[in-house]
Amino acid sequence: MARQSTDILVSGGGVAGLTAAAAFGCAGFRVICVDPEPPVTERDAAGSDQRTTAFLQPSIPVLEAAGLWSRLEPHAAPLQIMRIIDAGGEKPEPRIIKDFDASDISDQPFGWNLPNWLLRREMVARLAELPNVSFRPGTATARLITREGEALVTLSDGTGVSARLVVAADGRNSTVRQALGIPVKTLRYGQKALAFAVTHPEPHNNVSTEIHRSGGPFTLVPLPDRDGAHSSAIVWMERGPEALRLAALPQAEFEAAMTERSCGILGPLKLVSRRTVWPIISQIADRMAGERAALIAEAAHVVPPIGAQGLNMSLADLRVLLDLAAKAPDRLGDAAMLDAYHKARHTEVMARVTGIDALNRASMMGEPFLRDLRAGALNAFYSIAPVRRTLMKAGLGVR
Ligand SMILES: Cc1cc2nc3c(=O)[nH]c(=O)nc-3n(C[C@H](O)[C@H](O)[C@H](O)COP(=O)(O)OP(=O)(O)OC[C@H]3O[C@@H](n4cnc5c(N)ncnc54)[C@H](O)[C@@H]3O)c2cc1C
Repeated sequence: MARQSTDILVSGGGVAGLTAAAAFGCAGFRVICVDPEPPVTERDAAGSDQRTTAFLQPSIPVLEAAGLWSRLEPHAAPLQIMRIIDAGGEKPEPRIIKDFDASDISDQPFGWNLPNWLLRREMVARLAELPNVSFRPGTATARLITREGEALVTLSDGTGVSARLVVAADGRNSTVRQALGIPVKTLRYGQKALAFAVTHPEPHNNVSTEIHRSGGPFTLVPLPDRDGAHSSAIVWMERGPEALRLAALPQAEFEAAMTERSCGILGPLKLVSRRTVWPIISQIADRMAGERAALIAEAAHVVPPIGAQGLNMSLADLRVLLDLAAKAPDRLGDAAMLDAYHKARHTEVMARVTGIDALNRASMMGEPFLRDLRAGALNAFYSIAPVRRTLMKAGLGVR
């Protein structure tokens, strides 16, 4: 059987894979990107991804290099202030409020928030502009065999592909990672996240708010106005059975419950999207690469949605790969390049997975005594200005 030859096969067309395909395409490489699920690119269509992604400052140059930022920026809501509220007292009301203001460390906002369904729409449109990128929705990576000089991939439609580099962006159960035999370590919390959109009477003023009580954080992230009303995306983390109970509540009861959990900070919340439910785990692959293949995004690391880290870590993976490929395009996918990639990313990824795991466990605490400890720690960290600024920079991924 004749094989198609390409520089890069991107396995997975989620937000990370689509960005990788656009970025490598813009850099002049021949790219094939495959995904078994055709992307859902309309807000209210069945199966649309109701999560949003807050792109932090360091991710923007990657999106620019992919020719994506000019398409995305007009739809983005800036995040100027990250507010953390501890509502862990007897009643669900704020007892500590701390604002982390981007102006303390930068003349730019911390980041910009966009709905995932819209990201897919704009990314697919961008790929269509790039003649050297072939996006093949409805097709999966079925098999992978590697040797020193190439990766041989069989797609689900029977096509054989020879690639110099496979970029595994095929998610937490990555087919490519399994074919490479790279083990993962997984931590389970028995927790799920509800993700949905709301409108509210009070403006959000570009403040992203994380409210801690028990079960996990309740996070409101600014969105642009929706049909003339102020709007936010919400990620509400709870223990699994409680999350499923909330997801099944009649709308009016759900709205009452989320308004109470939000401590009423934006007034009564109105649900304006489907409620989607996401299992929460932490996971890290033992290596970021195998022969002729690099793992990025959830194929390499999964974290609970705290501090907008998940996809931003993924774009940091991509930034390193793009730099290495640009420095030595002839050595794309060779052992030295992939070893350099592993070394540049693995320690950093491990540190973030560990840090976010600790934050999530602190946020889940139900015991009043532990909740008091958590509130005390927030107060202490916040009151020391250099520590506060260091935390903000660490959250962004800048030094
Ligand atoms: C509730 C929630 C909120 C979040 N909010 C944020 C945020 O604000 N900021 C942030 O940075 N991150 C956030 N994240 C994390 C972020 O959403 C993820 O990091 C990101 O979606 C993962 O992208 P991915 O492309 O790796 O995985 P996925 O979106 O899972 O994509 C993997 C793709 O691979 C495809 N695939 C599977 N098998 C194959 C195969 N054999 N061959 C080819 N393709 C295959 C799948 O169909 C899928 O499309 C959030 C996560 C959750 C759960």
